[in-house]
Amino acid sequence: MNEPAPGRRTALVVGGGIVGIACAHFLERRGFDVTVVDRDAIGAACSHANCGLITPSHALPLAEPGAIGMAIKSFFKRNSPLMVKPRLDPALWSWMWRFAMRCNEKDMLESGAGIHALLVSSMSLYEELVANEPVDCEWQKRGLLFVYQTAKAFDAYAELNDLMAEHFDEGARRVPGDELVELEPALKPGLAGAWFYEHDAHLRPDKLVDAWRALLESRGVTFREHCDVERFERTDGRCTGVIAGGETLRADEYVVATGALTPKLNEWLGCRIPIQPGKGYSLTMAHPEVEPKYPMLLPEHRVAVTPMKSAYRLGSIMEFAGYDESIRDSRLKLLTEGAAHYLREPTGSPVEEKWFGWRPMTPDSRPIVDRTPSMSNVTLAAGHNMLGLSMAPGTGRLVAEIVSGEEPHLAREPYAVARFA
Ligand SMILES: Cc1cc2nc3c(=O)[nH]c(=O)nc-3n(C[C@H](O)[C@H](O)[C@H](O)COP(=O)(O)OP(=O)(O)OC[C@H]3O[C@@H](n4cnc5c(N)ncnc54)[C@H](O)[C@@H]3O)c2cc1C
Repeated sequence: MNEPAPGRRTALVVGGGIVGIACAHFLERRGFDVTVVDRDAIGAACSHANCGLITPSHALPLAEPGAIGMAIKSFFKRNSPLMVKPRLDPALWSWMWRFAMRCNEKDMLESGAGIHALLVSSMSLYEELVANEPVDCEWQKRGLLFVYQTAKAFDAYAELNDLMAEHFDEGARRVPGDELVELEPALKPGLAGAWFYEHDAHLRPDKLVDAWRALLESRGVTFREHCDVERFERTDGRCTGVIAGGETLRADEYVVATGALTPKLNEWLGCRIPIQPGKGYSLTMAHPEVEPKYPMLLPEHRVAVTPMKSAYRLGSIMEFAGYDESIRDSRLKLLTEGAAHYLREPTGSPVEEKWFGWRPMTPDSRPIVDRTPSMSNVTLAAGHNMLGLSMAPGTGRLVAEIVSGEEPHLAREPYAVARFA
């Protein structure tokens, strides 16, 4: 690590995904000398080629009434966009049990409140960041369309939309099928309609990582790649260093932003972090000739469509299959075949990248942003589920507030690690 400037406190952030980068940003702003270490390249894991959507509209957790039935059905389906690979893994079954217990409206709304608070905070912090700093990440605030093929599913969403409006002030505009092609000419005629969340945004995630990193480097933050933290040294309830490749790295404060790999550090953190890798895929292509103006979700086929300035991306799928690194074409086909039901030109050519990422999934869809129970100078910032990009700045600010002992800008309780005790 760099020699700290005299009098400055030091912070070591383990994990250089979008969450670790956001933590480094807000710690540096509070006067810390910050180093970010990653076992791989910075931003090469789940923050690399996700769908790039920044969505205050996505307040609701995965555990909603009926979700457990869908998960069980997926045991018996070979190529489903939601897939749980049954296996003898106590951590998976314990996760599933906790998830199942939360598939009711009361818990859904409780989780939603915590998720939404971080989403709203993050949206305004992103707007400040892109307006005031040289962070070129193809930011566009055009909104997000939830497009439905069948009238049944389109109409059924009305109830959820009312709930979103009532509890989170996130109502969408209803766009009937006959007005849809006028709004978005890249869609095929004959679709049932769409719900339009006009305040969502999108960006290119790998560009965000690169640009934000460059900004932080210009302010003195150090980034170290291929530096795998294997364990923590602890004395009298404080961390005194982390061991990475035989080297001991020391700081005053430590932040653990290790995404889906966080449970691998459970032994050292002194708590059991119930995170499962939720594998998703994306396909990045050149722009199709008839490209959508708006990003879209196609909920009946579980596909997201992101027209970025420099490329076009289809993404999604949720597989609970452990730390599996394969990319099968049959899974990617779910994306292109799903999009083909809706879009006049669903794919572009050539394909620039086939990708997978492990989403850090908690049973209640809320991240863990809290001190560890065993070490008073170690803060967790992990478990951002399907929304880590959307929740990163708010998380970074909250982490910096916890570490500096400031009054937090959000209630801390929804993100406490003790909820899993
Ligand atoms: C297909 C797909 C689409 C998605 N779309 C969206 C979207 O549109 N909007 C949105 O908000 N979110 C989206 N997500 C979710 C989002 O990508 C994640 O929630 C987010 O990237 C998590 O960020 P992170 O920094 O916590 O984890 P990561 O990006 O995985 O970073 C964690 C880092 O920690 C490092 N690390 C782990 N262990 C160690 C160790 N022991 N020592 C050193 N380093 C370590 C890893 O190498 C990694 O770089 C999507 C995810 C997928 C898969």
